Amino acid sequence: MLGTILAVAVATKVATKVGKAAVGAAGAAVATGAVVAGAAAVAGVATAAGTAIANKQRSKNLGSADYAVSSENARREAEVMRQRDINNTIKQLYAKFAICYYIALSDGVLAAEEKAELDRLCVEIYNRFPNPGVKSELLKIYNTPNMNFIVLERYIRDVDHTVIASFLTLADETAALDGNTTDAEKQSIYKLRKYLTDKTGYDYLGNYLHLDTDVNMQCQGCGSSMKLIPYDNKAVCPYCGHFIYLKPRDCSRRVR
Ligand SMILES: [Zn+2]
Repeated sequence: MLGTILAVAVATKVATKVGKAAVGAAGAAVATGAVVAGAAAVAGVATAAGTAIANKQRSKNLGSADYAVSSENARREAEVMRQRDINNTIKQLYAKFAICYYIALSDGVLAAEEKAELDRLCVEIYNRFPNPGVKSELLKIYNTPNMNFIVLERYIRDVDHTVIASFLTLADETAALDGNTTDAEKQSIYKLRKYLTDKTGYDYLGNYLHLDTDVNMQCQGCGSSMKLIPYDNKAVCPYCGHFIYLKPRDCSRRVR
């Protein structure tokens, strides 16, 4: 009887230790031991068997518990990273919109073409992230009465500079929307390029030739005078379309 009691005690202890899932197995072993004879030997075997089963069950439980915990952690990490990606993307799109608006507004008025492009961009961003926070931030940018570079910087400073640099073409296109890139717009683009150059140490002005740069070059295709594309490093032949990339030394400053 002592054996049975011990067996019960051990089995209980094991069962308590291994938890819910093991109770069935250990409990069955104890019941078997008690019912069959109360014999220490039988109970002992049953207990041994029960313990073996319980141990097996325990390692299985712990294994799957570990797995459950780590997969839950992985899920949470993935969710955090996904949210971070979304937040970064939204920040990048705010920067894109702010740059467009900054360039378009730099001559003080929004031309109809500029407004149409800003509206389009606004809707495009909102359709991608249709939530009230995004809408109100876009409207906040759109309603900024004085979008100077200091205001713009708030929207671009936390965004990867290579991403900002990828918006330079859009900036040029925005400036050209109303058919005429004004000096104020050119100045704004210059500030953006200068900012990127200062921030990164990479030369975003390297491809930039001042408007008063003179290109004295003849087209190799047709012999016509090549035309400088402002704020780009290209000279294009207006007649046959042949173009070449320029380095600053290919150009000379025009004396005014
Ligand atoms: Zn030509």
